[in-house]
Amino acid sequence: LDYCRSLPKVELHAHLNGSLSDATVLKLLSAREQQDGDFLASAEVTIKRGHQRTLEECFQVFRILHSITDNLEAMQTITQDVIQEFAADNVKYLELRTTPKNIPNKMTKKEYMDTVLEATVEAMKKSNIRVCLLLSIDRARGVEDAWSTLQLAKEYLTHDVFGPLVCGLDVSGNPHSGDLKDYLPVLQEAQKCGLKLAVHLAEVSSDTETLTMLNSGLVDRIGHGTFIHPDAGGSKELHAVVRKQNLPLELCISSNIKSGTVKSACHHHLGFWKKENHPVVICTDDKGVFSTSLSEEFYLGAQVRTI
Ligand code: 5GP
Repeated sequence: LDYCRSLPKVELHAHLNGSLSDATVLKLLSAREQQDGDFLASAEVTIKRGHQRTLEECFQVFRILHSITDNLEAMQTITQDVIQEFAADNVKYLELRTTPKNIPNKMTKKEYMDTVLEATVEAMKKSNIRVCLLLSIDRARGVEDAWSTLQLAKEYLTHDVFGPLVCGLDVSGNPHSGDLKDYLPVLQEAQKCGLKLAVHLAEVSSDTETLTMLNSGLVDRIGHGTFIHPDAGGSKELHAVVRKQNLPLELCISSNIKSGTVKSACHHHLGFWKKENHPVVICTDDKGVFSTSLSEEFYLGAQVRTI
């Protein structure tokens, strides 16, 4: 593990609100304690760090995390803390992704993103790390919300300071919500504007949806891709498309094991893709929710079976 810590690393799949350390969560909870004591006490119990929980339960944890980061001050704090923690783990290049949120009387999506971007610039001045941002489209929030996120991303592209920091869009959110084909027009427009697209695909078994997305030619990187390879029940056609397009996979070992989509590190699909010499990158996904770090994911990656 010390060796993994000493390596300079690249993190390409980290959700901002899922990456909060215990220290940051406790700081935010204590700042709010007087306002809403009962709720916050039960929230603290619910988000007990790193426990085994289903994918569905993970999304309940995100709802709690969102309720303690629902203001601009909290957004500034978490952005700076998360970036500094990745830097302390010797991450030299970080792509952080987050879903811009409009919270009535508290913040607009633009204020949310401006705050994240400003805090990113500040954090980069303090630590030896380069950070870029992906704006996330949450498939549970509907297509109209996705259009407004794209509009925001487009506005940043011509911004002097923030422009170079915005590198693309992510599509995430509960894989059981909505249908990604409804988002194709938004993603087509995003591609036309030069935005790169990282899309969560096949996190659960979903060959038809995954094929539709891949055949659209819009996807630049696949998040998770847990159910693509034949051993996990993916079709030959799906596997062939991923191979032909040579699409890199962002693999998050602890996330998959703790949310129960993969049995153990030695069963992880990293082994399958490594054997095929396919491009993969090891990532944390949500280092706070899954109580991990990129160094620990590298360490786990070394245990993955390739035969
Ligand atoms: P945020 O976008 O609020 O900064 O980060 C948390 C959000 O990222 C969650 O509400 C969810 O939409 C998305 N997210 C985090 N982890 C996962 C994951 O493992 N799978 C999917 N599909 N979405 C995730």
